[in-house]
Amino acid sequence: MFRLLAPLLLLFFGPNSMLLAQASTPGLELVVLGSGGPGAAGRAASSYLVLIDGVARILVDAGPGSFARLGEAQISLASTDTVLLTHLHIDHAGELPGLFKARAVSASGPIVFEVWGPVGSPGQHHDAYFPSTSELMQLLFGPKGAYAYLRDFSSPMTIRAHDIPAPLKNAVPQQILKRGDLKITAIAGHHGDAPSVIYRIEHAGRSVTFSGDIDAEGLPALRRIAKTTDLMVFNSVVLDPPGSPAILYSLHTPPHAIGELAKDAGVHGLLLSHISPAIDANRDAVVESIHQSYAGAVTIAKDGMRIQP
Ligand SMILES: [Zn+2]
Ligand SMILES: [Zn+2]
Repeated sequence: MFRLLAPLLLLFFGPNSMLLAQASTPGLELVVLGSGGPGAAGRAASSYLVLIDGVARILVDAGPGSFARLGEAQISLASTDTVLLTHLHIDHAGELPGLFKARAVSASGPIVFEVWGPVGSPGQHHDAYFPSTSELMQLLFGPKGAYAYLRDFSSPMTIRAHDIPAPLKNAVPQQILKRGDLKITAIAGHHGDAPSVIYRIEHAGRSVTFSGDIDAEGLPALRRIAKTTDLMVFNSVVLDPPGSPAILYSLHTPPHAIGELAKDAGVHGLLLSHISPAIDANRDAVVESIHQSYAGAVTIAKDGMRIQP
């Protein structure tokens, strides 16, 4: 159960003061703002905050509903300056304007957002068109963007967007940010026709890796970047075949393959998220399928959950 139970164990076992300090100000902490999507089925869509030494610094995805969960969690975005987008489907990026405005009104000085996400796709043949992450920022917040006013609404806001390249065979994870003990690496994943990115965040000797929505073609890259990660947030949408509609297997990874990958990569703990109603209705079978190859802890995410990887 990762370190969810740490404070409870400390109460029982009467720890030394160093352990107490670790429990009260964790170096790396994950807060689940949205554990569902894309259907409106009671969970907010994909979104997470990563806290560094108790402060929310990184937003990973911005799915609809995460704005309300942020308020419920009573966490300030006043120090959140890094945004990592796994891909530009609405259930991962649709709440960006609301969260950026929440950040704007919580600020007392100029805001500089560093936004990372995938390159675009021209939309040839039967593939959908996607703007790049930098184009999306222009469409939303640029001088002629839908919400251009936000740049000078409450605090001056600068948005620096970075497009992460499309998949390359045998690519290695690239470091995209390093600040003191905080390090973020990224590599292109694969999610049908939607360009996608896998992120790994490391701080204070701990790490969390986000699969994003991912199909079988993206798994070699995930295996490389997730090696021995403390916590892997794996998007879990489909049941083992043939339990889900065939088309979904070209977009997502079923439980048995999640288990195999977690075992191969030496992942220490799994958090299943992006939970579909089918997964919710078959929780025991899903976890059992993963455990056929993976012996580590498997937890199913809930909105508002806080975890120390
Ligand atoms: Zn998606
Ligand atoms: Zn999704």
